Formats: sequence, C-alpha cells, structure tokens
Amino acid sequence: MSQQSRSCPLCGSDRVSILASVRAEVIVHSSQYYDEGAYERLGVDKDSQFGISKCNECDFVFSAQVPSAEFLDKLYDGGSSLEESVAIFARPARAAYAFKCLSLVLSELAKRVAVDARGVSERRIRILDVGCAFGVGSLGLARKYYPYEVTGIEISSATRSYLADQGMQAYASLEDVPEGLCFDGIILNDVLEHVADPLGLLQAIKRLSAEQAVLWINVPNFIDWRLEQIVSQISSGDMCVPKDMNPWEHLSYFSPRTLNLMMKRAGFYRAKPSVREYPVICDSVFGMPRKVLRYARDLWVNYARSFDSGHVTSGIFVRISGDPRDYAVRPNHIDSE
Ligand SMILES: [Zn+2]
Repeated sequence: MSQQSRSCPLCGSDRVSILASVRAEVIVHSSQYYDEGAYERLGVDKDSQFGISKCNECDFVFSAQVPSAEFLDKLYDGGSSLEESVAIFARPARAAYAFKCLSLVLSELAKRVAVDARGVSERRIRILDVGCAFGVGSLGLARKYYPYEVTGIEISSATRSYLADQGMQAYASLEDVPEGLCFDGIILNDVLEHVADPLGLLQAIKRLSAEQAVLWINVPNFIDWRLEQIVSQISSGDMCVPKDMNPWEHLSYFSPRTLNLMMKRAGFYRAKPSVREYPVICDSVFGMPRKVLRYARDLWVNYARSFDSGHVTSGIFVRISGDPRDYAVRPNHIDSE
C-alpha cells in the first residue's frame, strides 16, 4: 500500500495521518465471508496493505484509498443464487434488526405526520430505503391499500427486478429518483460506511427529504476507545481483528460523535440524545480530566451492555429546516465545529 491517503471525506482537509495498515491476509482471516480463494478472486497479494486514515482537523477515520469499481464488483459478487441471497438478508437476526429500524421510523413519523381524528395520515407516507437489498422490513409496508409509498435504492438490477415483483419501486441511485418526489421516512441500514462520499450521499438525501423528514441510520461503531483497541491489535500483528475493520468494504469508521457531526453538516439533527454521544471537547486545560471521565463513561456503557450487539451506533435524525447554523444550540447538540 502506498502511504498516501485521500483527503478527509467529512471536512475535506488534507491534514490526515495513516493510523494503521491492515494486511490483506488479516482482512481475509477476520471475516467468515472470505475463504482462501479470495486472494486470487480479488487479485490481491496476502501482504498487500490497506491504510486507515484519520483527519487531524475533525478526527474522522476513513480508508486511505477507495477500492476500484472492478475490485468492488469482484468483492460483492458472492456467486450466491437469488433464493440463497434473500435467505441470507432475511435471516432472523438481520430481519429483527430491520423491523426494529422500521418500527423506530414509524413511531417517529406518527408524531410528525398530519393525521385525522382516527390517527390515519391525510396522505400517503413516502418511505425511502437506501441500499435496501431485498427490502427486508420496508417491503412489509408495500401492500395494497397500505397508506405508504415505498421506494428503494438498490444498485443490483437483479435485486431491483425481485423488488418490482414484490411491489416495490427501486432505483439504481438517488439521481434516478423522479424530480419532485420527497420522502417522509428514510432508512440507511448498514449503508453509509460503504460509500466513498458519505457526506455527498447525505446531502443528496436531504434534497429528497420532506419538511420534518425522519431518517434512521446505523453504522459500525468505532468509538475512540474501540478504535484504539483495534489499531493496537493491528500493530501487534494480530491475525484476527473485528471484521468490521475492513477497508475493502468499509470506507468510513464513524464514532457517535463523527456521525453526529456529519449528519449536522448534511442538514439533519439527532431527534433524541444518547448516552453514547460525546459533547466533550478536549481543547483546554481541563481536557485530561474530561477525557478520563469520558473513558469511565464508555466503560460503564460497555459493561452495562448498552451497546447494540455488533458494536453499532445508530439513531433517528430529523431534517433541519432553514439555516443549519440555527441548530447549533439544540438541546441534543453533540459537537462544536
Ligand atoms: Zn476532517
């Protein structure tokens, strides 16, 4: 791997450092989804190195390079049949999570969408599932006479055909969504960490959002202390690291704080504060005690098992109307820019 890095996808700064370099062999060893044939199939050497960068301006962590389109095609071509792929995406653990996300979006929409005396919405509610794959969860709303319009964004044409058969309109990208269509509820389940320009994607979503639109998002959680642990595992030559530290698939490594920062930049604020957030900035003489307190809180959160399984950070965000700067002091503010 060259020790060069792209600039920061969050703030655009070139002041970035390489935190760690992960060997291809470690990536393959660390995930059950790769086998020994992966090197040949992907055209990589066991000793090829893939860098993880950190921005010195905003602390955002990201893959040093973006894999080529050819590499990604090979990476995501699992060779499974449609039936097998649907079964994998709809496995109980994943389906439970997808329905939970959908439930949270609907609960938040229930508070925001205009309804009549019976609680029925006055118009059809538009849901956008970005990176929807086989529509596990959202497809449940695409039924005759249900008061929803469900739209998916899915890059695979075979998967889009499957969705069309099931009654769900899907497009290959956000740019293909017909002009004028605005969504009330948006789902980004395990999507943002995979894209090279997450801020650009979120800004495009904002343009497709209705006033008061509600957005559910979840990404792997690389909270400071967890990231430090993984980086030290990599440096000590550990052959097996958490499988979400994978710079082939994951191009961004969010902490709760950097997720909030990016969402705010894109024009969304968090609907509910979370104990996993970080309002603490270590930029003064009080920095160290604050850091210690923050660390203690993280330990407590971890031992109290407050983290979702699989180290995920997630939340409901709401579209900011007007000038985002007006929201700098919302009660759930997280960061300072
Ligand atoms: Zn940055």
